[in-house]
Amino acid sequence: MKAKVPVAVLGATGTVGQKFVRLLADHPWFEISALAASDQSAGRPYGEVVRWREAAALPERVAGMTISRATPPLAGRIAFSALDADVAQPIEQAFAKCGLWVVTNTRAHRMDADVPLMIPEINAGHVELVERQRTVRGWPGAILANPNCSTAGLVLALAPLQRAFGLEKVFVTTMQSVSGAGYPGVPSLDILGNVVPFIGGEEEKMERESRKILGALKNGTVEAAPFTVSAQCNRVATVEGHVEVVSAGLGRRVTAEEVIGALREFRGPEIVRGLPSSPAAPVEVDLRPDRPQPRLDLERGRGMTVTVGRVRPCPLLDVRFVLLSHNTIRGAAGAAVQIAELLVAEGRLA
Ligand code: NAP
Repeated sequence: MKAKVPVAVLGATGTVGQKFVRLLADHPWFEISALAASDQSAGRPYGEVVRWREAAALPERVAGMTISRATPPLAGRIAFSALDADVAQPIEQAFAKCGLWVVTNTRAHRMDADVPLMIPEINAGHVELVERQRTVRGWPGAILANPNCSTAGLVLALAPLQRAFGLEKVFVTTMQSVSGAGYPGVPSLDILGNVVPFIGGEEEKMERESRKILGALKNGTVEAAPFTVSAQCNRVATVEGHVEVVSAGLGRRVTAEEVIGALREFRGPEIVRGLPSSPAAPVEVDLRPDRPQPRLDLERGRGMTVTVGRVRPCPLLDVRFVLLSHNTIRGAAGAAVQIAELLVAEGRLA
């Protein structure tokens, strides 16, 4: 058996950081070699500092690890970043400069022209951007990003439609869980029994990131896909899982059955299908009239499968449907781990 790749988690104490720790604790290819957080947490054992909110027990080895400051050097070939977005940019760059492959959940570098913004089933080829990035920036390491949590679910449902029929317009309204705001996140008195019709920056992220992810790699850059997105984002009182109500205008007239067929047939390239985090089906369609629901459907594909339901004709655009996506797995930690697995499978860390 090959030795496991040592990996560091930056922002290990937060909501996404804890999800990383849980997913990496028994990962077949990776082993946690360092945990980092803010200076307030550094120097203390992880098990003492973290407010562990995962259902699975905190592994003893990890509980005993001392939290480091989020500055290089740190042990590891890969650094998963779940840092507070406001502090992430210089820290992530410092680690790439120091030779680590940084796979980030933060918004800090997602729209940089030389940073791949990836969902491996959709755009594994965009990984090529790192070669230019490393040459131009002179880094022995690199930065790759996974999308914002609400964008991840949306593009997984749009990619099959774009491929099969062409995609022109998207109208999406989200109902996003409180875990999307980190910990402690939205005050309970603001959200219990309530809906907050604003999530700062979220609509812009959905509109920009989806076009980059579904764009084409041409002459070493990604050309944004030429469709329009109108997003309206709401925070609702669910704990985990983002629900999104979507209408899409396609390149030709389609029946609901054709759309269902395209969603069900969608698969990533062979190398992606073989990665440990890849689900058997990236998208599942559930035609029961009251699905998908966060409480019932969130864990499909160990949180990596997006569930689509209520597929039907749209009197305004061509088709409408509802999707559910796991915001801290497919929309965060699981997505980043899958990207890192692709780097290993392609031999890029050698
Ligand atoms: P969170 O719960 O607030 O955690 C933030 C983490 O950043 C904590 O580990 C914190 O450490 C650390 N941190 C804060 N200031 C720091 C500093 N100056 N230096 C080093 N570390 C510092 O946030 P989260 O929800 O996990 O989100 C983490 C990142 O992922 C954010 O950029 C967010 O936008 C993105 N994201 C979140 C989701 C989601 O669903 N939650 C989905 C996709 C992307 P201490 O505990 O020591 O303060």
